[in-house]
Amino acid sequence: MSTEDPATIEPSGIDSAVEHLRNGRLVAFPTETVYGLGGDATSDLSVTRIFAAKERPRFNPLIIHLPDVAAVRNLVVFDDRAKRLADLFWPGALTLVLPRRPDCRVSLLASAGLDSLAVRIPAHPLAQQLLRAVGRPIAAPSANRSGRVSPTTAAHVRDELADRVSLILDGGPCRVGLESTVLDLTGEMACLLRPGGLAQAAIEAAIGPVMRAQPIADGAVRLGPGMMTSHYAPGLPVRLEATDARPGEAFLAFGAPPAGIVPALQLSVDGDPVEAAQHLFAALRALDRPEFTGIAIMPIPEDGLGAAINDRLRRAAAPR
Ligand code: AMP
Ligand code: MG
Repeated sequence: MSTEDPATIEPSGIDSAVEHLRNGRLVAFPTETVYGLGGDATSDLSVTRIFAAKERPRFNPLIIHLPDVAAVRNLVVFDDRAKRLADLFWPGALTLVLPRRPDCRVSLLASAGLDSLAVRIPAHPLAQQLLRAVGRPIAAPSANRSGRVSPTTAAHVRDELADRVSLILDGGPCRVGLESTVLDLTGEMACLLRPGGLAQAAIEAAIGPVMRAQPIADGAVRLGPGMMTSHYAPGLPVRLEATDARPGEAFLAFGAPPAGIVPALQLSVDGDPVEAAQHLFAALRALDRPEFTGIAIMPIPEDGLGAAINDRLRRAAAPR
């Protein structure tokens, strides 16, 4: 599998993407994490179309994509922690959940009725160009049907959404390959809602300890799609911590495979979690084929991006 090619940027592609977005239609575009399904976040109609195209439950709020901090500050209340994190990690694979400003013009449907909003500044040059050109906040969850593996190439988006999207901008394979880290800053203590493309340790080095999302008193949890037990799932059963391959299984390796086993694919020959993250979703898709009975995946250490990779794999392996 190759890593990111520099995007060939078609100015006409951007122009037509802007026109579609301004007219309430959906445009898929590359970010450095995964491909997003974009719609005008200020339009109830566009936001409704995103939920419908993904078959996503309406109670799962969407991440709003902006080109720069000035645009973010128009929508949410920015505190010192947010400023520090933005200085260090934006543009990049970090989403911040912050209080909506009273004059926030993003559709309440995108917040699923909450008084908070998830915001991110993506680094991908094509995403940056698009956001600047359209001049509106863009809601963009991953461009896959709800519950399935996120797309990391334009071809994956076409396989997932076909005619449910008006246009797909092709920026090559995604560099990070995992969704953004989601950090809730609405409370006194920062709370990690979803591990992702920015390691928790990097955040803690900047703002101090971060708590993991916990079930609240009545047994409910602060739920998002990244927090559902079964998510990111291929069609085939997934078996984790595999040290052997059972008959019919495709073996997905990380580092040196066990003696005598020929892997169907390799996430990273050198056991590098950054490279494994890049290849993860494409590998799950590539192995999700009828000639196999399941996908067996070698153990991956929790270090760095390993935590986010294992989070996704546990959900891929969870009972459906
Ligand atoms: P996705 O758009 O599929 O990448 O997932 C969006 C993620 O952002 C989910 O994990 C949600 O939990 C989280 N999220 C978005 N908006 C909010 C919000 N207002 N409050 C809490 N979490 C949010
Ligand atoms: Mg998603």
